[in-house]
Amino acid sequence: MQPLAAADDKALVDPFGRRITYVRLSVTDRCDLRCRYCMAKTMRFLPKSDILTLAEIARLADILVDRGVTRIRLTGGEPLVRRGIADLVSSLGARIGRGLDELTLTTNGTQLERHAEVLFRAGVRRINVSLDSRREDRFRHITRGGDVGRVMAGIDAAAAAGLRIKVNMVGLKGLNEDEIGDMLAWCAGRGFDLTLIETMPLGEVEEDRTRHYLPLDSVRARLGGHFTLIPTLVRTGGPARYFDVGGTSIRLGLITPLTGNFCGGCNRIRVAATGTVYGCLGHDQKVELRDLLRSGGRAAVDEALDRLLAGKPLGHDFRIDAPGPAVARHMSVTGG
Ligand code: SAM
Repeated sequence: MQPLAAADDKALVDPFGRRITYVRLSVTDRCDLRCRYCMAKTMRFLPKSDILTLAEIARLADILVDRGVTRIRLTGGEPLVRRGIADLVSSLGARIGRGLDELTLTTNGTQLERHAEVLFRAGVRRINVSLDSRREDRFRHITRGGDVGRVMAGIDAAAAAGLRIKVNMVGLKGLNEDEIGDMLAWCAGRGFDLTLIETMPLGEVEEDRTRHYLPLDSVRARLGGHFTLIPTLVRTGGPARYFDVGGTSIRLGLITPLTGNFCGGCNRIRVAATGTVYGCLGHDQKVELRDLLRSGGRAAVDEALDRLLAGKPLGHDFRIDAPGPAVARHMSVTGG
């Protein structure tokens, strides 16, 4: 076994003493949906040469695990539209139990039906599925053309394959706020946790986000009239506060970057599909790893990661009423 001091030496620790054990790794900026709050309608995607190859992603993951990262979440864009994703998941899955504790994935579910079993076989045990509405017409409107039936088929396949599912729903005033109670009841019936998310001001989306911004403290109060929400002390180092939902086996999470800052215990960094690594979702502070992975060698990658950690911001400062987005890049670029 490696002596603890050596592992501590390599650990990714920021000046606030926060240790990075969790990485969100975007495998593509592309997506087959165009959610209104996330992307512009005519989103221009990056040329292939700008994107890390699967081998480069796997190598970076190895380095991160060596530096103390124990959880990796694959994201995007839509991770399941990346060609070769099954091979990448299998190769990362082989690290589980060898430094890596958990490999997870966040998906919109449209391609899940054909990938669910592969994910499970590779060692993935839980996934997040984004689902802002279960109603066909609404889903089509919010995603600008998506087919909710495919997502439902994906969810069924994932559950049948043995994957635990958490549903992520962005609360949108006037678009899905009246459906949140139904969604919670449906999740409870299926044994899925549900996390509600406030819209964050990331990237230009051609729409005025303030129109659909829904503060989740009011939602929580309303849900409290129909469900018993018992606050828990569970924290994942991430942004959500959790509630047990009385009489069910599920948990409700609230991600409230605007009404409740969530950064103090941050344990994560985000790798974009280009190999740019961000210390914070709401800041531009970053290092570029792509060229270093291509020709710089391990020491150069380590040095860049140390630089990133040295400058990791304490937290973000999202304001829905600010004149423009907090950062210019979209969630799909940073890796949501
Ligand atoms: N395509 C995958 C999915 O749909 O889960 C992964 C990437 S997506 C960017 C990750 C999550 O970010 C989704 O749940 C999406 O709803 C959320 N998201 C995107 N833009 C957002 C924004 N501006 N504010 C809040 N959540 C956002």
